[in-house]
Amino acid sequence: MPYDFDLFVIGGGSGGVRCARMAAGHGAKVAVAEEGPWGGTCVNVGCVPKKLMVMASEYGNAVADSQGFGWNAQTGQHDWTTLIANKDAEISRLNGIYKRLMANCTTFEARARFIDPHTIEVAGKRVTAARIVIAVGGRPIDPDFTGAEHAIVSDDIFHMNALPPRITIFGGGFIGVEFAGIFAGLGRQVDLVYRADLPLRGFDEDLRTGLAEAMATQGIRLHPGRTIRTVSAAKQVTLDNGQTIETDLVFSALGRAPDTGDLGLDAAGVKTGAMGSIPVDETSATNQPHIYAIGDVTHRINLTPVAIAEGHTLADRLFGPGPRHWHLDVVAAAVFSSPPIGTVGLTEAEAAANGPTDIYLEKFTPMRHTLSKRPRKTTMKLIVDQATQKVVGAHMLGEDAPEIIQGISIAINAGATKADFDRTVGIHPTAAEEFVTMRTRARVSG
Ligand code: FAD
Repeated sequence: MPYDFDLFVIGGGSGGVRCARMAAGHGAKVAVAEEGPWGGTCVNVGCVPKKLMVMASEYGNAVADSQGFGWNAQTGQHDWTTLIANKDAEISRLNGIYKRLMANCTTFEARARFIDPHTIEVAGKRVTAARIVIAVGGRPIDPDFTGAEHAIVSDDIFHMNALPPRITIFGGGFIGVEFAGIFAGLGRQVDLVYRADLPLRGFDEDLRTGLAEAMATQGIRLHPGRTIRTVSAAKQVTLDNGQTIETDLVFSALGRAPDTGDLGLDAAGVKTGAMGSIPVDETSATNQPHIYAIGDVTHRINLTPVAIAEGHTLADRLFGPGPRHWHLDVVAAAVFSSPPIGTVGLTEAEAAANGPTDIYLEKFTPMRHTLSKRPRKTTMKLIVDQATQKVVGAHMLGEDAPEIIQGISIAINAGATKADFDRTVGIHPTAAEEFVTMRTRARVSG
């Protein structure tokens, strides 16, 4: 029986758009359904608007820093409504670009769900497809403390009319620490409540410690090892140790879960795993060989470039000349905290579990802050497997860390050794040159 489409993609976010566009480019007859604005989480309520807010938050400190360099500039008032209006205009522009990328596909601006393994219901129609890609991403996990209805999640912050003076954030993951930096930079009083002893569970310990110190130095009030027990209608937060925090806004940042509810997966015979995620094999196939899942819905490495790589590879494999190879086992990542983090490869603890590991570590005051006098430190770290002398991890907390680590990640993916780093001539004066001038081993781990 002929199908209406060669490929139906559910979700027009980072992974879905790339997969649909590449498949159509290879000549496949493709349909895409998107229930919200085109571009998905990254463009609308994730990476892009978040980074614009990070940039907004940096200007106040930059003005204060400039005084050490002889400027007499004074920090003025920040206007949140201008930021939101300008951000909205930019996001609308990007939505248009994403929609135009779908020009060779049939698009449905509606929610889609499975009726059976080859049939999708969308916009009041039933359509069939030979192959189907699930690229529905994730959604914020709702908090379960008493008074959770008084809290917002990250999706909400991008559309708020005003930003109140006192904000309590619950969650020490990347979204929690990024918004702690944004709000503090915009002059708000920030309380950050998190369950672990340090923020950013899973990151290298030296970076976690360094970021906690940096946040405390900025005046962010840290509440490690704590959870929120209740939030009252008057926005009084009570922690599990009985401590109360007077606040104006409670921002819950407890992570995201795959958005697979009400997708008709049972009707399609697609199995789900932890938190509703969809398990896939190395070809992105689910337990149904003609149904695939890519991006955050698989809940593995929840990053835009990974969703894009998976979508691109899948389209090439199904309709093109064959899959392009990506290094998905060594993926660099950033946290746009204040200061930001760039990280690639193994942490010290992960590497040490594999055997003896040489640790190179530098912590220093970056040049800008020798004159600005802002108490801010940069931490840079190389993790070297002692047996092979390969650099298996590089981590940085400090200005421009994501930009620097992107370059370092190429060397690590190429299998560079510590000797390769050592024979590379640095660029002076930069912070990045520290990565090629660290000569003295700080310790051996493992
Ligand atoms: P998404 O981009 O979430 O797209 C899924 C789409 O499917 C959505 O548009 C949704 O509306 C649609 N959809 C869902 N169900 C249906 C249905 N039944 N029918 C039709 N449409 C449906 N990643 C980075 O790499 N760098 C960052 O700095 C970064 N910052 C982030 C900051 C925040 C606050 C958040 C929340 C995320 C951030 N991420 C970042 C993660 C990044 O946004 C995701 O990894 C990425 O968007 C995943 O792409 P995706 O295609 O899997 O899903």
